[in-house]
Amino acid sequence: MMEITAVLGDITEQQVDAVVNAANRAMRGGGGVDGAIHRAGGLAILEDCVRRFPSGLATGDAGWTTAGDLPAQWVIHVVGPNRHAGETDRSLLLSCYSRALEVADSLGARTVAFPLVSAGVYGWPLEDAIAAPLEVFRSASTSVDEARIVAYDATAYDVVRAALVP
Ligand code: ADP
Repeated sequence: MMEITAVLGDITEQQVDAVVNAANRAMRGGGGVDGAIHRAGGLAILEDCVRRFPSGLATGDAGWTTAGDLPAQWVIHVVGPNRHAGETDRSLLLSCYSRALEVADSLGARTVAFPLVSAGVYGWPLEDAIAAPLEVFRSASTSVDEARIVAYDATAYDVVRAALVP
């Protein structure tokens, strides 16, 4: 049974096997959590992105690279739906989390830290950006032992904590 945990903090500092990145389809870095991961992990992540994802990644999909200088071993990149670009299909957001767990299983990652995909620049409402991963995690069939939701501000952390109460 996978444990779902929540912390308030910076995903780049998490001591886990894999951290999930809220990337974009180009897979060449960006702002927000994507920028933070590339800055902290170093150029090795970008180089691996170029090598492994020459034409980027589709919305809702996931793929992995090295984590470079991060404490984690892998970065699992997912492309969340961008509501501002008309991507309002919720299944795309659910898919990010289920595909990330599949990739984690393929790597043998047992502890995985997740940001709130699409909850920033991509404009997904916070409540549902939290409900979606919980829905996936609670019904997932996976070898991952811990799915750690990393909230970056106190408001998000409070909503995650409230949603975690059974
Ligand atoms: P998206 O484009 O998918 O919306 P963003 O990076 O803009 O991605 O935001 C996704 C979430 O990640 C937001 O809740 C934002 O507050 C959060 N975030 C930003 N930086 C970090 C970080 N260093 N660690 C964890 N979460 C972060």
